[in-house]
Amino acid sequence: MSELHDVAAEPEGDAELFVDFINTRELTDGQPQEHLPDATALRSWLYERNLCGARQPLATIDASLPAFRDLRAVLHDVTGRIADGKRPTAGQLKRLNAAMRDGLHYHQIKPMENGNRFTVAQVGDELAQARAAIAGSLAHYLAEHDLGRVRVCANDGCRWRFIDRSPAGRRRWCDMRTCGNRAKVARHRARAREGRSQS
Ligand SMILES: [Zn+2]
Repeated sequence: MSELHDVAAEPEGDAELFVDFINTRELTDGQPQEHLPDATALRSWLYERNLCGARQPLATIDASLPAFRDLRAVLHDVTGRIADGKRPTAGQLKRLNAAMRDGLHYHQIKPMENGNRFTVAQVGDELAQARAAIAGSLAHYLAEHDLGRVRVCANDGCRWRFIDRSPAGRRRWCDMRTCGNRAKVARHRARAREGRSQS
């Protein structure tokens, strides 16, 4: 039994926005799980990360769902390539750049109705800005960090994206207490089967 308990705990979660976003569609035992199935789920996800207001109309969010999912697919594919030691394709970089460009915004000052006060408000599409922030988090990561730390979980039934922040940089599973253990248990069982078939 000690084999299941000799592993140091891995830090939970990744602070990088793009990693969080990619993993909103994940595999559990090889089956896809969609954590952003509708506008309500996407609004909560964005709101929790200060990427949209609580009152952003659901109809607007709903119309933007395909754009968010397209972006997520690009980020998924780019991180898959990076983890494989490849570079993003020119087409993928173009799509990242398009997402960042579409989020352009500026600020505008307006006098308030009464008195001498002013307000400054941001002008631009909030949801396009949210996509730009997500795409930008990957762009900045690729420009500023060690690409060798971008990983895809070695468990084929998981394939989670994560950043390996371990000192040695040899982490293979998203979470040693789940996928790592599962892989170990599978290896252990395979060895046990081999042992039986040889005897
Ligand atoms: Zn995993």
